[in-house]
Amino acid sequence: FAKTNGKNQLVVYNPAVHDNEKERQIAMSFREALQNNEFYLCYQPKYNVKEKRISCAEVLVRWNSPEFGFVPPSIFIPIAEKNGFITELTEWTLNEACRQMKEWRNKSHPLEKIAVNISAPMFLSHALHQTVTGILRKYRLDGRHLELEITETSIMENLDTAVKVIKRLQADHISIALDDFGTGVSSLTYLKKLPIHSLKIDKSFIDDVHTSPEGKALVEMIIHLAKLFHLHVVAEGVETEEQLQTLISLKCDEIQGYHISKPLQAHELDEFFKAFTAV
Ligand code: C2E
Ligand code: CA
Ligand code: CA
Ligand code: CA
Repeated sequence: FAKTNGKNQLVVYNPAVHDNEKERQIAMSFREALQNNEFYLCYQPKYNVKEKRISCAEVLVRWNSPEFGFVPPSIFIPIAEKNGFITELTEWTLNEACRQMKEWRNKSHPLEKIAVNISAPMFLSHALHQTVTGILRKYRLDGRHLELEITETSIMENLDTAVKVIKRLQADHISIALDDFGTGVSSLTYLKKLPIHSLKIDKSFIDDVHTSPEGKALVEMIIHLAKLFHLHVVAEGVETEEQLQTLISLKCDEIQGYHISKPLQAHELDEFFKAFTAV
């Protein structure tokens, strides 16, 4: 569509060009943003149904930019993946999350594990194992306190490499969760080959688990499948009590979503735990 600019000239607004330009600007400001501490981490609790407690939290990166305002990760992560900045950002995230975890461990915090998202290109790189173990060593943190969330698509890009990477990480007690399960590939045969710890059912399956019999049957099937492979099952994006109760009845192991808690900054998580154990 057309609009007038300040000089009263008619300009044609092209969303594609606009987006590309914005994307370029965002990509150019990443490094400085990292140096200026514009990125910070949030932690979203995962509730363990059987143990009735929260022992794990997912790490989610946030960017508050003085130039662009609050930029959601759904916007900047794909740009960072495209321009290669994702490696630096993930290293920073791993480092900051492990530093925080060490601080929590020193205070006997109930949180036992943090889960960090790893993008496909980074997961398949040979440097990942070294990067991760280097950071764990730096903070004298056991691999048992760290989980890496990876997507089906990143595994399927190169299954043999993925199996090797996972085995090396597992030798150091680092666990692997398969993220956004069900949204990627159609073949499930790869599950046989992967020594992973847990499977996260994507939010899109959880949305109608309590309202549609088909939706419920599908989640039930995924949970059965997971149990067949001795995997721990996590439901993401749980927003209501009805969804929670349905998932408990289906024997889902862990629940993550706004109904338990939104992603919280470290100090907010401390407050959350105080209130939660008081229940
Ligand atoms: P994801 O890994 O599937 O993360 C879950 C997303 O769902 C998060 O959005 C979280 O805030 C949101 N969420 C959690 N519970 C609920 C709920 O009950 N309802 C709704 N509507 N949403 C819920 P977020 O933080 O905006 O992150 C979006 C995506 O960005 C993530 O999806 C992940 O793929 C990516 N991402 C975030 N942080 C990182 C990171 O540090 N590294 C990498 N590689 N990717 C990241
Ligand atoms: Ca995730
Ligand atoms: Ca997810
Ligand atoms: Ca998801």
